[in-house]
Amino acid sequence: MRLRQCLSQLKPYIAGKGYTEITRKYKVPLKDIIKLGSNENPYGPSPQVARALKTISVERYPESEELLSALSSYIGFPEENIVIGAGMDGVMETLTRLFLENGDKSLIPIPTFSYYEILTILNGAKPIFAERVLDFEIPKTIPNDVKMVFICSPNNPTGNATPEDVVRQLTETTEAIVFLDEAYVEFAEKSLANLVEKYDNFIVGRTMSKAFGLAGLRLGYAVVPEWIAEQYRRAAPPFFGITCASVAAGIAALRDLEYMRLSVSKICSERERLWKAMRCSPSQANFLYVETIEPSDIVAEKLLRQGIIIRDCRSFLGSGDHHIRVTIGTTEQNNRFLQAYQKLCV
Ligand code: PMP
Repeated sequence: MRLRQCLSQLKPYIAGKGYTEITRKYKVPLKDIIKLGSNENPYGPSPQVARALKTISVERYPESEELLSALSSYIGFPEENIVIGAGMDGVMETLTRLFLENGDKSLIPIPTFSYYEILTILNGAKPIFAERVLDFEIPKTIPNDVKMVFICSPNNPTGNATPEDVVRQLTETTEAIVFLDEAYVEFAEKSLANLVEKYDNFIVGRTMSKAFGLAGLRLGYAVVPEWIAEQYRRAAPPFFGITCASVAAGIAALRDLEYMRLSVSKICSERERLWKAMRCSPSQANFLYVETIEPSDIVAEKLLRQGIIIRDCRSFLGSGDHHIRVTIGTTEQNNRFLQAYQKLCV
């Protein structure tokens, strides 16, 4: 056997469906497809991003200093506490390499983002799953032998945020590294990034993919204690996986916070409207988690035939087979989804 043994435990990561797949399979014209399956921002990034992208020199390797200083002003932490990567995925890849190895264990409250499990296994470690129960909350204690804990808040796919006192208590009572994934935090009531100052086992992951509308450029970052930032720079790939395009776009987007905040406020008000109409769990993210009467794969298939892409949550471990996740789109997109969904329910 040439391959590493851990690969046999892995299935490919399942992403939300894309435009090409749906036009090919269902013959729906591209213009009629609405994509509410990947938690992207329907308003895209600030117009300053397109301008910035015209100025890049693609023959040069990327430089990260200006990006770090823009992130530092945005997040309110010194550059020494910020690490960057190709999406938060890239950041997590390097971070897990710092802490997990053969025989280690990670704790993953489920249902949640599946990449934590993949990275744990790829590093030779073992994921321990804890079911999120009442209101999708995480367990209050961590087994002693766990090396890393992944808390997604607001959680993908359930949309709930973990309260500060729970995160604090957990972090204070464990030796493990607590990774708080705040991919969707701009849509939430509050961030807990400030806790990085207090705890040396606490990391907050962030991304430019969601509120800032830069999913296609792959740019993420994390706020970490200084000792972790130093080790991160040893284990990270050259240029941290960033590109001239992601750097230029990231800086431009961070300089136009007004645009980002406006798109977030439109998405949040649409989220409340859709939530009332759907009568589902409340959400602090840019999506809703909806329990379906029919099995979720059937619901997803019926919507796909009409060109509406949502996420069938069967691929989320612990989600069962009666949940879908719907990204909040523009008012027009949400209306089309709502009409189609309500027709399915009668
Ligand atoms: N964390 C969560 C909870 C996510 O949903 C995603 C995106 N699907 C990521 C991290 C990764 O984001 P990025 O695009 O920055 O790699």
